[in-house]
Amino acid sequence: MKTYDVIVVGAGPAGLGAAIESGKAGASVLLADENDQPGGQLFKQIHKFFGSHDHYAGTRGFQIGQQLLEEAARAHVEIRLSTRVWGIFEDGTVSACTEDESFRCRGTWLILATGATENSLVFPGNTLPGVITAGAAQTMVNLRHVRPGSRAVVVGSGNVGLIVSYQLLQAGMDVAAILEAAPQVTGYAVHAGKVRRAGVPVLCSHTVLEARGERELEEVVVAQVDGQFRLIPGTEEVIQADTLCISVGLTPRWELAALCGCKMDFCGPLGGRLPLHSETLETTCPHVLVAGDLSGIEEASTALDEGRLAGVHAAAALGLLSTAESAEREREIQSRIAALRQGAFGRKRQTSKEQIWSRYHQHQGGGL
Ligand SMILES: Cc1cc2nc3c(=O)[nH]c(=O)nc-3n(C[C@H](O)[C@H](O)[C@H](O)COP(=O)(O)OP(=O)(O)OC[C@H]3O[C@@H](n4cnc5c(N)ncnc54)[C@H](O)[C@@H]3O)c2cc1C
Repeated sequence: MKTYDVIVVGAGPAGLGAAIESGKAGASVLLADENDQPGGQLFKQIHKFFGSHDHYAGTRGFQIGQQLLEEAARAHVEIRLSTRVWGIFEDGTVSACTEDESFRCRGTWLILATGATENSLVFPGNTLPGVITAGAAQTMVNLRHVRPGSRAVVVGSGNVGLIVSYQLLQAGMDVAAILEAAPQVTGYAVHAGKVRRAGVPVLCSHTVLEARGERELEEVVVAQVDGQFRLIPGTEEVIQADTLCISVGLTPRWELAALCGCKMDFCGPLGGRLPLHSETLETTCPHVLVAGDLSGIEEASTALDEGRLAGVHAAAALGLLSTAESAEREREIQSRIAALRQGAFGRKRQTSKEQIWSRYHQHQGGGL
């Protein structure tokens, strides 16, 4: 059985960041991802990132992905694609499979960066062809260059919903409306401004009631809700659409962490169930770290830096970085993460993260 210093599961920004940092320090690293190309969600993101130079401002998501892949190659990271990790056993053995083979390997450190799954909604007609998630729409339009339809209704005005709406417009589709159950838009004003300027109405305090169609989606029934998200009778409207795109949040992909035996916690603002972890991404399982959306839903830039932090932590624990080197590197990365969490949404996440870290320390001290 092949052994590595570090095995990283998931080659999104978090996994790539972790693999690059541990590889650069001299660790032997295996990075496995179930997809046929690395980059996770980054390769669907054709828009320019904003923020600071350190966070690749002005660079498009897929270009960031390409830069990270080049960095990973320079750090001698072994990347295995179309490889799903399905088992992690008590002795530290990791089991994975491709279409053709199943194999086992072992890592001194395991970094889980499995990302998130998209939430959906339950309503009559939600299984009709044409009802899809935002991630599916992004994959079709930005990766496969296929339009899912000609006229869409998008549910959810978070950043993903707003960005996907704009990308559907760029692909030549009409976006009839964005529905938002909250009384105000929940994503960044800059993204909302862009879709509004393009003529897309954002209907706040509105939800989807039903998707209708003979064999596929033909129309969407929407209605207004009150401040407690209760339906207001008599406000129903029908919108003609062949695509209904659901973008109502993400949930960390926690299954592998749970399989490892990591203690789980729950934090609504970070996406729900997630592994309890420290500021340096340690879980309650020795030698198992987490990073990115798995440790709480944030943004691609935060995921990348969390991954880098986990990679530095593993490399230091392996004795590949001196205490001074790792402390300096950790300080640098932590300050970038802190800067990312300074905005209005970021502050809420920072507070939620602090609660998770505090519960982690309570647990490790025997208090939970
Ligand atoms: C649809 C969508 C759109 C988004 N749009 C934006 C945006 O525009 N801007 C922004 O900043 N953020 C956006 N985000 C959020 C951002 O992409 C994520 O925060 C970021 O990608 C998280 O990085 P990650 O590495 O944790 O996870 P991901 O990028 O999701 O990568 C995780 C990888 O792990 C793989 N994996 C999971 N389990 C296994 C397993 N058992 N074996 C092998 N591989 C596995 C997955 O297939 C995936 O490739 C979006 C997220 C989604 C879902």
